[in-house]
Amino acid sequence: MLEIIRIHNELLGTYGDRGNADVLKYRAGLRKISARVTDISYLDPLPKTGDIYLLGGAEDAAQILSLNALRKGSILTRAANKGAVVLAICAGFQILGNRYVTRDAEIEGLGLLDVVTTPGDRRLVGDIAVATELFDFPLTGFENHSSVTTLGPDAAPFGKVLQGNGNGVAGVDGAIDKNVFGTYLHGPVLARSPEFADLLLERAVGSSISEVDDELALRYAKWRRALIK
Ligand code: GLN
Repeated sequence: MLEIIRIHNELLGTYGDRGNADVLKYRAGLRKISARVTDISYLDPLPKTGDIYLLGGAEDAAQILSLNALRKGSILTRAANKGAVVLAICAGFQILGNRYVTRDAEIEGLGLLDVVTTPGDRRLVGDIAVATELFDFPLTGFENHSSVTTLGPDAAPFGKVLQGNGNGVAGVDGAIDKNVFGTYLHGPVLARSPEFADLLLERAVGSSISEVDDELALRYAKWRRALIK
């Protein structure tokens, strides 16, 4: 059973990123891979047995609540260190960094990615497209954030921004380290790019997965990519 853990959706669910879990479960099912999505509240400890951990977007106060809950027991860090897949979107990405700085506070992050997030000078909202080294086509989504993220020397960007802002620093989006993926791509990003969902499934099962004929999903992905300015 592939365990998909949706972390603190009551806090990290503001921008619809919950759909990433649903896409993963659906696309696992297309391969007859049994998968279970488990919602974990910030009041409860994370399961240590997750194969894929998902974090979504949130307002500043909500993400701080989530960060403080995740700090207890370092379960996500231990799981990531053992190779579990982590996909963190916007706020979820920001709290995986070393430091999360708001106008009112400076808080230590979970330290999974060598990044620091600080207040920006304007809200960054709109369509976004990112070129990555994982695919020969851009990933699309939307962004809506006021903070910006700077990569440290040990962080590799998730991709190069083709449209929009991404991190808001140095023309890149997100950060990646082994199976830990951080990005500013809401969408949900996996609904926008089913190929990315399949890559995460392969990383989680540890082997290649069969091709599937999901023509509608690919048609939608290509339609979105054709809109990139
Ligand atoms: N609260 C964070 C910010 O405004 C993240 C927003 C989000 O998750 N979309 O930068």
